[in-house]
Amino acid sequence: MSSATLRPLSSWAQNISPSPTLAVDAKAKALMAAGEDVCSFAAGEPDFDTPQHIKDAAAAALQAGKTKYVATPGIEDLRKAIAEYYDRSYGHKVAPSQVVVSPGGKFSCYLAIMAVCSPGDEVIVPAPYWVSYPEMVKLAGAVPKAVLATDATGFKLRPDQIEAAVTSRTKLLIINSPSNPTGVVYSRQELEAVMAVAAKHNLYVLSDEIYENLIYGGVAPTCLATLSADAAARTLVASGFSKTYSMTGWRLGTLVAPAPIAKAVAELQSQMSSTATTFAQYGALAALRETEKTKASLEKMLAAFDRRRLLLHRGLTSIPGIACVLSQGAFYLFPNISSFGLSSMEFCERLLEKEKVAAVPGSAFGAEGYLRLSYATSDEIISKGVARLANFCRALKA
Ligand SMILES: *Cc1c(COP(=O)(O)O)cnc(C)c1O
Repeated sequence: MSSATLRPLSSWAQNISPSPTLAVDAKAKALMAAGEDVCSFAAGEPDFDTPQHIKDAAAAALQAGKTKYVATPGIEDLRKAIAEYYDRSYGHKVAPSQVVVSPGGKFSCYLAIMAVCSPGDEVIVPAPYWVSYPEMVKLAGAVPKAVLATDATGFKLRPDQIEAAVTSRTKLLIINSPSNPTGVVYSRQELEAVMAVAAKHNLYVLSDEIYENLIYGGVAPTCLATLSADAAARTLVASGFSKTYSMTGWRLGTLVAPAPIAKAVAELQSQMSSTATTFAQYGALAALRETEKTKASLEKMLAAFDRRRLLLHRGLTSIPGIACVLSQGAFYLFPNISSFGLSSMEFCERLLEKEKVAAVPGSAFGAEGYLRLSYATSDEIISKGVARLANFCRALKA
């Protein structure tokens, strides 16, 4: 049994950082499977089942033989329903030809980056960032330029910070509002100021709006492409079904862009995934068409998330040494733990070991001194987990 000495794998394979959020989640799940009583704040997905009418529609499609390849950018009815959704939700008038359905919002973002960026181009990535952006930019041969906005500015980039990061190589700016990992939602005025910088330097903008419907406290989402005709021309809007409809495992994302860009994205997809799963697209169609049923499930989920958001925030801010912005979107809070003098990685490792509480270190998101806590979990876990976190913090300060 001799094994050949193989040549090294590609630079892509060697340089990729595997998703740290999925890794922490997997570690917490493994501890639980081993019988440990873990309070996990690591979840990156809603803890609700997919609404029944959506499952029924996909099951019916499967039974009806919708099991073959379809058009690369998605089934025509779904692209039409997505165009109608943007009109209904934001007054954003797009043609079905501007819509591409992909296997997941993550893949939509990757396709957008691949469509815009050539090797050597620079991409401005606001930090704290979603872990996948810098890696996807690198996979396109481009260079991610992280620009940090701390809790001092509510985790929002000021236009002059973006301006200072622009070089002659800058091609793309990524915006993610509501944000993973902070939950922060930019106001329309703030986004207008950001878009002015993009227009001045002729940048494309990838607006990842996957959490557009998970917003609390009466705040309204903004679809970046609706700010102006100029914004519509330079913005690629990524979204999808994973978060709003609790459909993470279905793998269905969307991208809406000016027709020539959407065409380029579809051509890339034709060589990478061909299509999104056919019968799954019929489930998505029901999510958008059976609006009353969908609205009822979404409202139930939003009420639970909002209650847990306030519960977790109240708990965190009652712990001496922790400060936390009360953000209004997604299902994350991003507390500041810098007063304890540990790296966020060390803090998380010890917290899991000592108190069996799982959280993701801020360093994974390009922001040292913070934790990401997901409240896509039960009120009981939140209460129990916060009590354990308080114990842990008290011991650190002692
Ligand atoms: C969850 C998520 C996505 C998309 O997830 P998919 O499961 O691929 O649809 C995209 N962007 C952010 C910031 C997310 O948190």
